Amino acid sequence: MVHAQGVRKNFGRLEVLQGIDLTVERGQVCCLLGPSGSGKSTLLRCINHLEKIDGGRLAVDGDLVGYRQHGGKLYELREREVAARRRDIGMVFQRFNLFPHMTALENVMEAPVRVARAGKAEARARAQELLDRVGLGDRAGHYPAQLSGGQQQRVAIARALAMEPKLMLFDEPTSALDPELVGDVLDVMRQLAADGMTMVVVTHEIGFAREVGDTAVFMDEGVVVEAGDPRQVLVEPRQERTRAFLSKVL
Ligand code: ATP
Ligand code: MG
Repeated sequence: MVHAQGVRKNFGRLEVLQGIDLTVERGQVCCLLGPSGSGKSTLLRCINHLEKIDGGRLAVDGDLVGYRQHGGKLYELREREVAARRRDIGMVFQRFNLFPHMTALENVMEAPVRVARAGKAEARARAQELLDRVGLGDRAGHYPAQLSGGQQQRVAIARALAMEPKLMLFDEPTSALDPELVGDVLDVMRQLAADGMTMVVVTHEIGFAREVGDTAVFMDEGVVVEAGDPRQVLVEPRQERTRAFLSKVL
C-alpha cells in the first residue's frame, strides 16, 4: 500500500528525510518511532500529498504520489487531482481538528456531504454507525467542547473513516491526551487494525506498537535506523541509537 524508496525531503538546507525506505503492505500496521525532529511527521505529510518529495520514489496503492502515469509518461498532478487522492487517505493528528461549531455527528458527516459522495440522509446514518463503532453513539449531538479529549479524538477517527479511506495515518494521536483517556483511543485503533485497515502510526506507545504493529520503524535524523518485527525492534533492538531512544521513552 505504501512503498517508499530513497525518499528525500529538504526544507531549505535542512535535509529532513535523507533516503527513507519503507514498505507497508495492505492490511498491515506500521508503527513509526523516533526522537523529536527525526522526520516522522514530514514522512506522513509526504505520504498524504501535503509535502512534495525532493528525491526517491513514493507510491501509495500503486500510484506515484504527486504524479499520474499516462502512456508511459509521468505527469504532475493538478491540485484537484491531489485533493482527490488525498480523500482516500485518512489522517488523525495529535490535536483533534474537529469543527467546533458542529456536533460530533455533523463533524463526521461533513466531508462525505461536502464532496457529494453521499446524500444527507445516507451520510447521517453512516456517521451514526461510525460513532457507534468508536463507542460514542450516545454523544452524536455533543459539540467538541462538550467532549473529553479522548472522545474528541475518537470522533476525529470516525470523521476520517467516513470517507472510507484505504489508508489511515496517525500522527501521535494520543500524546496530547490525559493518561486515563489514552486507552479508549488505542482500543479504537486496535479494533480498526483487527478489521484490516492499513495504518501508519507515529506513536511512542511502545505497548501498542508491540501488540498491534506488524512492523516497527525507528527513525533518527531523517534515516531509518532499524525496522522489522516490533517484538525484535522494540524488545531486542540491534542498534545502539534505538536502544538509547527506547530507554528514554519506556
Ligand atoms: P516530533 O516528534 O517533534 O513531532 P518529527 O519527527 O515529527 O518530530 P518533523 O516534524 O517531521 O519531525 O520535523 C523534522 C524537521 O523538519 C524538524 O527539524 C523541523 O523543524 C523541520 N521542519 C518540519 N516542517 C518544516 C517546514 N514546513 N519548514 C521548515 N522546516 C520544517
Ligand atoms: Mg511530529
